[in-house]
Parts: sequence; structure tokens; C-alpha cells
Amino acid sequence: MANVTITEVCPRDGFQSLPETIPTDEKVSYINRMIDCGFKQIEVTSFVHPKAVPQLKDASEVLEKINRPSGLKLRALIPNLKGLERAIEAKVNKVKLMLSATDSHSRHNANRTTFEAMNGFEPLVQRAADSPVHVGGSISVAFGCPYEGEVPIERHIEITKRYEQMGVTNISLADTTGMANPVKIKRVVNALREEFPHFHFSLHLHNTRGMAFANAVAGYEVGITDFDSAVAGLGGCPYAPNASGNIATEDLVHGFEEMGIETGVDLDRVIDAAKSLQHRFPEHSDSFILKAGKCSELHIAPKEQVKIGD
Ligand code: ZN
Repeated sequence: MANVTITEVCPRDGFQSLPETIPTDEKVSYINRMIDCGFKQIEVTSFVHPKAVPQLKDASEVLEKINRPSGLKLRALIPNLKGLERAIEAKVNKVKLMLSATDSHSRHNANRTTFEAMNGFEPLVQRAADSPVHVGGSISVAFGCPYEGEVPIERHIEITKRYEQMGVTNISLADTTGMANPVKIKRVVNALREEFPHFHFSLHLHNTRGMAFANAVAGYEVGITDFDSAVAGLGGCPYAPNASGNIATEDLVHGFEEMGIETGVDLDRVIDAAKSLQHRFPEHSDSFILKAGKCSELHIAPKEQVKIGD
């Protein structure tokens, strides 16, 4: 029995950040490899306007072609009702609403303020209620906005209350531009869990400043058991300046497993999949385990002392 649930988001967050278009069949084969790693949930794509993110314009086709073992939940991001209809038609299990914590990031991302965007969610949530698709919310730039800096706790509470009014009680807190630190993570998560004990919060962490694993551990220590990550650390955000990838799945799984926290994911298969992505997109992958190997891979001790440098 796993202690944490890792949602693989490379097919959405990772692929959407790549400048070069990946052919659909190649995407399908990468996703099928990820499915074989044992994830319980994969964020397969985003039903955004094809002009906004051309890389994901084949969302429906990808969902039609990938394997669907029982027990695997497929999630997609949706910006609007049109996206939701496409997601329902493609038979995803879950959709995630895209929302920014701050008005500046929201204007860049969705061309309206945070609460204008939330008002637009109302018909989506109602429509989804008549379908088998489960709706989750998100709060991007939750731990710092590249335009406004710190996001006050009051703002998180206000946003979460609005979600509550709509009946959305599953929220992904995203450190979109890697501005979080363990203290901030604990402060925000504790405040939200105290105010909304019936909610389920998860963490989506980018490793922009090398803090993502520390942040994941901090989240785990205050009760978070759901984390997003991307194989090979692929990722970014087209709307956030200098954003880099999600925490690499192999780094997160390896780190947790080293600490005795079960993930239920096959690390060696993840590493194999990560290697092939790194080979294909060397400039867009970022992973400690691919560089250093697992802690358990011991080296043969040298027979004599070899002194290099001082
Ligand atoms: Zn992301």
C-alpha cells in the first residue's frame, strides 16, 4: 500500500513546454511507457485552444490511442466549457480547472482576473455534474507570483471559499515558478487544511530553484499525500518567465523511497522512460537521478588511494 500518490504530468506540463511538435504516435508511446510504471493517475493533456498550445492540439487523438488499464485515472486540464466538452467526449476521468492566485498572472494566462475566471467555472462545474467526469480545482503561483511576489493567506482562503461554493473540494496548489520554500509550504498548507478540513489538497512543484524535493517533504510532513511530477523533469509554463520543469518523477520517487515512503511506482521503469526522454530532449530535461544514479547503485572501491587535486 503506497503512502503517497504520484501523478505523472509530463505528457501535459512537460510536452507543452517543448518548442518542437512531437508526433501523436510518439506521444502515445511515451505515455504508454509511463502507464507501465504503475502510476495511478496521469495528466495526459490539456484541452486548451489549439492556437494557444499547438503542441496539445491532438489531445483527443492521444486519449483515443493510449492504453487504459483498469485502475488508472486519466486527468486533463481545461480552461473553459468547450474544453470540458472535449474532455467528456474523450472519456477522461478527471479535469483540472486552471486558475491563478493573482490577478496579474491570471490576466497573462486567461485574460481576466482570478475571480472573473472563477465566475466562468460555474457553468463548467454544473455541466460536469451531469457527466462521469470529476472536477478538481487548482491555484497556480500559489507560493509566489513572478509579478506580484508573495500571495497572502487571506487570498488563498478567499479563493478556496469560492471553490467551496461551487462544490469543488479537491485543489492542486501549484508552485508554478519555483518560489516556494518548506516554511511557506507548511504555512499555506496548514492554514488551508485548518480552514477547510474536508478538502483534499495536492502539490504541484516546479524545481526552478532546486527547492522542489524539500518542498515535497515539507508538504508530506503536514499531511499532503498527493504530488505531481514529470518524468525527466520536463516542463515549464508558457505564461511564467524563466519557469523551469516540474520536479523529476525519478527524483521524487527515489527521494521518497529512500525515506521509506512508498510511492507504488516502479522506479527503474521511470528511469528507463526518463533516459529516453532525456536522449530525445536533452536541453529540456533536468534530473538528479539521471546524472548521479540511485543511492543503491554502489561503486567498486578503488584499490589504491587516487589523489586528485588538493
Ligand atoms: Zn506546472
